[in-house]
Amino acid sequence: MKRYALAVLFILAGCFPAQAGLPKVLVLATGGTIAGTGATATQTAGYKAAVLPVESLLAAVPQAGELAALTGEQLAQVDSKNMTPAIWLKLAARINKAFAAGEADAVVVTHGTDTMEETAYFLNLTVKSSNTVVLTGAMRPSTALSADGAMNIYNAVAVAADSSSRGRGVLVCLNDQINGARDVAKTNTSTPDTFRSGETGLLGYVQGGKPVYYKATARAHTARTEFDVSVSTALPRVEILYGYAGVSPAAAEALAAAGAEGIVYAGVGNGSVYEELLPALKKAAAAGAAVVRASRTGSGPVTRNGEENDDRDGFVAADNLSPQKARVLLMLALTRTRSPELLQEMFYKY
Ligand code: ASP
Repeated sequence: MKRYALAVLFILAGCFPAQAGLPKVLVLATGGTIAGTGATATQTAGYKAAVLPVESLLAAVPQAGELAALTGEQLAQVDSKNMTPAIWLKLAARINKAFAAGEADAVVVTHGTDTMEETAYFLNLTVKSSNTVVLTGAMRPSTALSADGAMNIYNAVAVAADSSSRGRGVLVCLNDQINGARDVAKTNTSTPDTFRSGETGLLGYVQGGKPVYYKATARAHTARTEFDVSVSTALPRVEILYGYAGVSPAAAEALAAAGAEGIVYAGVGNGSVYEELLPALKKAAAAGAAVVRASRTGSGPVTRNGEENDDRDGFVAADNLSPQKARVLLMLALTRTRSPELLQEMFYKY
């Protein structure tokens, strides 16, 4: 009888590889190309994103079960061109609940690549824990030759499960590279090496199921931010205005008239403003909208009181945040203050 019981135990152990002691990683799926399918194995454009459920994503990577005790949940199913602040709020709430309840030691979010950097920065500012959150996705649909999704999930789980990833802020992991949420951007429309952190550089690599880091995350994030969206059902409306030679004030005036609470100006050079646009931005700021000067160049800080008189006009300089990241920060910052001085402090802190 004893022998029989032992045999049953062994058979069961074989079926369900031991998960005791492994970190609990919750995989929240939101759609994107990683869950996409194409008509043929060679189709890498024009396929349908956000088709496969989280169960299929995990079933494609049984090896990830050796790194963590995995659970999956479908939080949304969208092409990330259709990502919304409402989904951001839902995601932040779910992650904060999972950490507060001890349901998960780390979270992996699967996401479309188009707006992944915005979601990552939003979570970087709203997750209230030093537990690891990693976003991953794919540039090729699951049906493609050399699809990158499965390895990206495996690597993201490896990063999430490793204690050396804690306290670094929200991470983005694709193509064997680990980037920080604040600095990373999608830089190429099509290639798998699209995520880059520009001049500030990546944080590390992941290989053989193990992350290796080369530097720390400098700016305040996660548990060290003042943003609490736990009771938010919507975020302040912030729009982006693009700068170019001879830009007319029409778009700025329309945004102010439409009730934008904040305008991020993706300016030329050092966030410089064309003289015929300046009155419209000054008027918007005087009427109470936050006006943040960012740059369309893709790198370098926007200098406060450099090309423009921010003190006089009530503007805020975006530091080196991209216009789309400056928008995310401004949406959250406006839940705390309308003061240009305090907003400026936040742009230097986060
Ligand atoms: N349009 C897709 C998305 O962002 C692209 C991708 O996931 O790579 O969902």
